[in-house]
Amino acid sequence: RKLPLDPSEDPGVRLVKGACFSRVKPQPLTDPRFVAVSHEALTLLGLDGEEVANDPLGAEYLSGSKVMPGSEPAAHCYCGHQFGQFAGQLGDGAACYLGEVKVGRWEIQVKGAGLTPYSRQADGRKVLRSSIREFLCSEAMFFLGVPTTRAGSVVTSDSRVIRDIYYSGNPRHERCSVVLRIAPTFLRFGSFEIFKQADEFTGRQGPSYGRDEIRGQMMDYVIEMFYPEIQQNYPDRVERNVAFFREVMLRTARLVAQWQCVGFCHGVLNTDNMSILGLTLDYGPYGFMDRFDPDFICNASDNSGRYSYQAQPAICKWNLVKLAEALAPELPPDRAKAVMDEYLGLFNGFYLENMRKKLGLLKKEEPEDEILITELLKTMHNTGADFTNTFRSLSQISCSAEAESEEEEDHVKQATDLLLEQCASLEELKAANKPTMDPRELAMLLSMAQSNPALFQMISDRMTLARQLDRLNRLKDLMETSQEMLKAKHAEEWTQWIKCYRKRLARELEAQSDVQAVQEERVRVMDSSNPRVVLRNYIAQNAIEAAENGDFSEVRISCAVAHLVLFFFFILIFRYPMSVFFLFFFDCCT
Ligand code: AMP
Ligand code: MG
Ligand code: MG
Repeated sequence: RKLPLDPSEDPGVRLVKGACFSRVKPQPLTDPRFVAVSHEALTLLGLDGEEVANDPLGAEYLSGSKVMPGSEPAAHCYCGHQFGQFAGQLGDGAACYLGEVKVGRWEIQVKGAGLTPYSRQADGRKVLRSSIREFLCSEAMFFLGVPTTRAGSVVTSDSRVIRDIYYSGNPRHERCSVVLRIAPTFLRFGSFEIFKQADEFTGRQGPSYGRDEIRGQMMDYVIEMFYPEIQQNYPDRVERNVAFFREVMLRTARLVAQWQCVGFCHGVLNTDNMSILGLTLDYGPYGFMDRFDPDFICNASDNSGRYSYQAQPAICKWNLVKLAEALAPELPPDRAKAVMDEYLGLFNGFYLENMRKKLGLLKKEEPEDEILITELLKTMHNTGADFTNTFRSLSQISCSAEAESEEEEDHVKQATDLLLEQCASLEELKAANKPTMDPRELAMLLSMAQSNPALFQMISDRMTLARQLDRLNRLKDLMETSQEMLKAKHAEEWTQWIKCYRKRLARELEAQSDVQAVQEERVRVMDSSNPRVVLRNYIAQNAIEAAENGDFSEVRISCAVAHLVLFFFFILIFRYPMSVFFLFFFDCCT
């Protein structure tokens, strides 16, 4: 439904009833200019990065400051569960569709382009910090082989908004910036949740006004367009919908397994940030782990650790259940439940498959591999080992059929030394294990947990407390040790694991005639599964600080490094012969 709104005059921030898109007009920036472009991402649109970057109007168009002929910008109205609670109408509060590029079918949107009807109390703008983080990580994830939305460019300007940086406490006037985002579609789980709540969607028009029809249309659109093989293979509508939901479940399980295997934490896994295509969507307070900690939380506002690293697989499952509920009339609940019963097994399968590659266990699968992996992670946690560097080091531990020889002992010692280099010092470990909760509050909660479990449940969930307690115990042990003792303890732990690993590697060689070839293949697979470089927080932070001072070189270098780091799925299957740049408005409204 076209809304009676002249977007050029009034973005009309409000509750929008009975629609899942509104036409909007991106607000132009003052003197927009490129911070960086991703040549590879722009190629998807048939654009030449160099040409765009040098075109005086390039930044105008790619920031939505000028609207391309044929484009009818729109903002999408969606709902979502945020931190476990249904949050009502959200929608694109800061992002705006420009339309769809027909060459290869890509939706493009500008993020940070100003007010939309869904901006709520905010201004619809983004600043350099958030835009650079989104731009760099979108591209870094793609080149790591992790499914993701892409980013074509990041533009800065002389327009400013006030942001209150929480750590300084001082409001700052920051430059407005815009990221051009690219994906087959930005539809998300939350896109379907808008139909769940009669009030949210239908408003005054009555309890069922248009709701079922539009939900059906949106499902048809998504399945026909992005899951064509399902559309073809399932003439029965219910069976088609079940197959669709199963495929979304499977892609999500595979995605989160990949996140776990590169130590990526999304940070805000609300249902409105879950792509209906199984892509990594919405880069906010994400983080790649440095020292391994299963309880790693990258979102400063996530007090309970709902979205911690190790919670991600279960949270994605929870989100899928919410999607199933939103699809309910089209998807029988018992069928959805049967699909969800497969989730954990599938996730484990993807995770183990991926981890076996990271450990170079390629020839045979053993049920005990899971224990070897768990023990590795435990050792990494205990010793505060760097996630990325530790995995990268493992290929230097070689396969050998010999056991207990002198040579063997030498190799284990060398490997131990190598891994010790990745471990934390005593001071670093102390810092890493500091409980995040105030000690007095923690003591109070603990005594409460003992005397009144019900009250305790209301105040803090058990997971939080368990995490705090674990840290406290670790800290206590660390207080009683010296750097030398700690190092000896770490060496012992690593030696023990390395010995198990070497025994397991020796079994890889059973019935293999060419030991050399096995070893070479192993190193090749391991090195392509264990990235040497990830977008560590400090790298992004350095790029941001330089950019805020007008020096864009670090953003460009970081982006180029991301492209140079080649990994398993890095085949540019997306390169279409492209020439036409044709946009049309994709009208999802009634
Ligand atoms: P996020 O946590 O980034 O997924 O955002 C949650 C919701 O807030 C989404 O509906 C966003 O569109 C909206 N939002 C985020 N940033 C802004 C902003 N600067 N202005 C308006 N809405 C925003
Ligand atoms: Mg979001
Ligand atoms: Mg966001």
